[in-house]
Amino acid sequence: METIVNLCKARGFVFQSSEIYGGIGSSYDYGPLGVELKRNVKEAWWRDMVATRDDIVGLDSAIILNPKVWEASGHLEHFTDPLVDCKQCRQRFRADDIEGDRCPVCGGELTEPRQFNTMFKTFIGPVEDDASVAYLRPETCQGIFINFVNILHASRKKLPFGVAQIGKSFRNEITPGNFIFRTREFEQMEMEYFVYPGTDEEWFDYWVNERFNWYVKYGIKKENLRLRQHPKEQLSHYSKATTDIEYNYPFGWAELEGIANRTDFDLTAHSKASGKDLTYFDEAKGEHITPYVIEPAAGADRATLVFLLDAYEVETFEKGGKNDKRTVLRFHKDIAPVKAAVMPLLRNRPDLVETAKKLAQDLQKAFPTMYDDTGSIGRLYRRQDEIGTLWCVTVDVQTVEEDNQVTIRDRDTMQQIRIPIEGVKKYLIEQLGKNC
Ligand code: ATP
Repeated sequence: METIVNLCKARGFVFQSSEIYGGIGSSYDYGPLGVELKRNVKEAWWRDMVATRDDIVGLDSAIILNPKVWEASGHLEHFTDPLVDCKQCRQRFRADDIEGDRCPVCGGELTEPRQFNTMFKTFIGPVEDDASVAYLRPETCQGIFINFVNILHASRKKLPFGVAQIGKSFRNEITPGNFIFRTREFEQMEMEYFVYPGTDEEWFDYWVNERFNWYVKYGIKKENLRLRQHPKEQLSHYSKATTDIEYNYPFGWAELEGIANRTDFDLTAHSKASGKDLTYFDEAKGEHITPYVIEPAAGADRATLVFLLDAYEVETFEKGGKNDKRTVLRFHKDIAPVKAAVMPLLRNRPDLVETAKKLAQDLQKAFPTMYDDTGSIGRLYRRQDEIGTLWCVTVDVQTVEEDNQVTIRDRDTMQQIRIPIEGVKKYLIEQLGKNC
């Protein structure tokens, strides 16, 4: 993990937030490459969950909702973690994170667990009193439930159908940590799939399967993924069944995404609390029903971490009769933040530099491309491998003096081919496929 954290900082994927002021409790900022990487993760999710399906539509709801939402959803009462304090060193822990009954830091005596609500509180308007209390959403899905009827009327969808949302959520976690795995501010990618009651178990299995295969499709090694069913006593207050997709992180197996059968809990609760009809009219049966909901809930930051961890490799290979080593991020082509890098073989030759810059600018119009002439070619290749760039395109003396051809080096195989400069864009677009 430390290696990845260091690489992320050095190469501009992820920085500690507010670092010049000593940081702030597990907050991170995404740098120039990180923002592209996370966008690619979110775009891949949106493409597969919304854009290419005719049964799912999107939503972008507010972060601060009417506080009654959180009362009705059960979050005010149930969105709590058991908190214990060490009587000796005063550190605080989530009771279910520690083994035994002593402080894991100093061995001191712990207080009895008390329930701590992890929703962030704020105030609306200038007066900070009970009447102005509001909360930052701890999950994106409630915005979907309270818009159920609006979406139903506007989109005219028939069951089964889904509503998807990507956006920030906030949880005042007692023990955040493990880099961007658990932070207090994070992005979720959630989809609520509304189905006929009675078909919910079938759809639950469908979504567990779909979501597991989604990670595999984008290159996550199958052996690093597993499913874990929640035992009854661990289920959230709204859930009939939950299965986590877990990843084998450097600190052990832990949740990457959760798929829950939320039943009709949320629609029923909001209908009761608001007095509004949140049912669906079943034309075949001529009756109003409250749909059941299957929810695949993923974290964009946690998924980004998994894509980084899984792509990371230190490869040893033979070069010129000697063993050589390189660090390479083997991102899937849709996930890689930079698709191509263009470099002149000699940076002191203006004609090579000009040709390379022109090619880079042309490629940039089609996909993220970097121009780099800040080192020897060997060093530039290593640097691009380290950020997972798919191809390095080199302009050399032969290009400008003889054949107008360039060398394209493949990140994974390190094989090089030589093709005419005017064919590079078309060739790389073909390699990327239509998704890019
Ligand atoms: P955990 O058990 O790890 O606290 P959870 O079961 O509370 O997670 P869900 O409510 O199911 O999480 O949220 C769905 C997804 O949102 C999680 O699988 C994870 O990817 C992401 N997520 C939840 N909490 C955090 C957090 N504090 N930081 C980063 N991502 C998070």
